[in-house]
Amino acid sequence: MIYLKSAEEIELVRQSSLIVGMAHAEVAKILEPGVSTEKLDKIAEEYIRDNGGVPAFKGYNGFPATLCISINEAVVHGIPSARVIEDGDVVSIDCGVKKNGFFGDSAYTYPVGNVTDEVVKLLEVTKESLYKGIEAARSGKRIGDIGHAVQSHAEAHGFGVVRELVGHGVGKELHESPEVPNYGRRGTGAKLKPGMVIAIEPMINMGRKEVKQLADGWTIVTTDGKPSAHYEHTVAITDRGEADILSTFEAIEEVLMNKV
Ligand code: MG
Ligand code: MG
Repeated sequence: MIYLKSAEEIELVRQSSLIVGMAHAEVAKILEPGVSTEKLDKIAEEYIRDNGGVPAFKGYNGFPATLCISINEAVVHGIPSARVIEDGDVVSIDCGVKKNGFFGDSAYTYPVGNVTDEVVKLLEVTKESLYKGIEAARSGKRIGDIGHAVQSHAEAHGFGVVRELVGHGVGKELHESPEVPNYGRRGTGAKLKPGMVIAIEPMINMGRKEVKQLADGWTIVTTDGKPSAHYEHTVAITDRGEADILSTFEAIEEVLMNKV
């Protein structure tokens, strides 16, 4: 069942999603060669708790950390560790927060230091495909319209669209109905209605679309070993056309601009 949210509930999802965006920015500030992924995780957890939130992933199905940090061929669900960030890494960071009974969920992928032009293109196209998906997320359209928008943009650039992992409803649960695949056919799937809150989260591979899970029981990697990217926003379907983006990349991108 798809749970439609009231305006007040949507504001609570926005508050949690804003804490996610600010936690990302805190991490972005110290994301550079030499820092361990454990350290990034600690910074995010402190920020979230200092702002009255609870890390949503920690303990979720037994996941041990606040952030999912997925480097290079890791697509999603990487576990923070003593692994140190290196020049040239492609680092996908996913973060969720619960506050006042409602969740927010957002992911961003960072190039660290000198990356190839192909990596730059992968990140650009993956972020664009997120916004294409959001553009399609309008009342009266269907879930398949979102997937179609994401998939057609990514595949037009020759990239692989992960099938096994999908976006989802967000609210009182981190993962609610409906599933929001990053592939699909126009005009298919559940109809989008005002009050639906969903996480749209393209996971796009530079090479083939196939993925596998590592023996740690969490980390998803590309089978061809090529890098992958992941961007995610939590959005609300509105009655006025375009979706309301509840999470934000603004603070992250301000940090990145000041680093250059
Ligand atoms: Mg997420
Ligand atoms: Mg998500």
